[in-house]
Order: sequence, then C-alpha cells, then structure tokens
Amino acid sequence: MRMILIGPPGAGKGTQAQNLVTTFGIPHISSGDMLREAVAAGTELGKTAADFMKRGALVPDDVVIGMVIERIGKPDCARGFMLDGFPRTRPQAEALDEALTRAGVALDAVVLIEVADELILERVSGRRSDPVTGAIYHIKYKPPPADVVDRLVHRADDTAVACTERLDKYHRDTAPIIPFYAARGLLKRVDGVGAPEEVLMRISAALQTVQVAS
Ligand code: AMP
Repeated sequence: MRMILIGPPGAGKGTQAQNLVTTFGIPHISSGDMLREAVAAGTELGKTAADFMKRGALVPDDVVIGMVIERIGKPDCARGFMLDGFPRTRPQAEALDEALTRAGVALDAVVLIEVADELILERVSGRRSDPVTGAIYHIKYKPPPADVVDRLVHRADDTAVACTERLDKYHRDTAPIIPFYAARGLLKRVDGVGAPEEVLMRISAALQTVQVAS
C-alpha cells in the first residue's frame, strides 16, 4: 500500500498514521518528524529548516523534496509507505509523481482527513507529544498517563500564532493539491471529527475499496 495522509495541522494525521502503519505493515514517513530530527541533530538540512519551522512557514520545496524522495527509495519502502505531511505543495506532488513513475510504481490512495479550522486551534494548543515513544496526547481529549507527563513536549509551532500561520499555509499551498489527486480517482475524504478510534474506522472503511498495486 502506497498512500498519503493529507489534512490541516492538528487533523490527527500523526495519530492515525501510527495506527494505520501497524495495520498495513508499512513505514510511516512524516516529513515533519524527519525535519524535527534533522533540527535536533544539528545537520545542515536541520539548520536550514529550523527558522521556517519555528514560524510555522513551509520549508522550501528543494530541501523537503530531496529528503523525502531519498527516504522512499530505501528498501523498507519497496512494498509501500505512508506519507504524512508530504506532499504539501503542488511542486512536491509533481516531484513525488515523477519519482514514483521513474521507480515504476504508483500511489494506491490519498486519504484526506477533514476538520474545520475552528476545531483545529483547540486541538493543536492542547497537543503534547512524548519524545521517547512518539505517542501524541491532548491535555483535555486524550490525557497522558501520570508517569510520562514530565517528559512531554509542546511543539514550538503549536502556539496559536504559528498554528494560524500553518492553517493559512494549508489553505493556500496544500489544499490545491487535493483536486490533483481527486482527478485520478485516488482521493478518499474522511470526516476527522470524533474520537481517534472512530476516525480510524472511517479511514479503514474508505481504504477497503482500494485495489493495491504490487
Ligand atoms: P508537521 O509535523 O507535518 O506539522 O510539520 C511541521 C513543520 O515542518 C511544518 O510547519 C513545516 O514548517 C515543516 N514541514 C513538514 N513537512 C513539510 C513539507 N512537506 N513541506 C514544507 N515544510 C514542511
């Protein structure tokens, strides 16, 4: 299964990706996680990306495209992958397409998790993640267990200002790639409002109709 998860920041892509990769046995490739790792490791790529990320701005296409295309060329992606947070712009979608065509493979599905902007801000401001396990919590909707609370991290770009900027970017740069995939019959729209388990059921149902190419 070669698939993409698309949705606004805070739509639940990371949470759903963690569940789905277990079901399909494919690697979860999050461009945001890869960039945060590069920033933490202090690599050249990380240094370039850091300022953009802190502001909630998109990291330039040439930086992100090379990083993700190289990653999906690794052997663990030979039988599929789940892309989360990439592509986010039309040039990224086109570069992905070219890379897959060169490799002689094709996408099987693009899942769009839909959540209204008004709900996003509340979700994102309460979001906390565990740097040890990668688990994502919400202080109100998915409270973390007491023994991990002290090590949880509130992402620097999960503030109201940065989130508004990211939503803006989503509508301007990312939403336009939706028709690109819809036109090829790959798009599955899923309502992202509700408990994570409910949303997972909706995604699984939407994917049941997908014919997976080898
Ligand atoms: P995310 O974890 O997907 O919300 O990404 C966090 C931040 O990383 C974004 O706000 C961007 O600054 C950057 N980023 C992640 N993926 C991309 C991408 N595909 N293109 C450009 N910037 C990205």
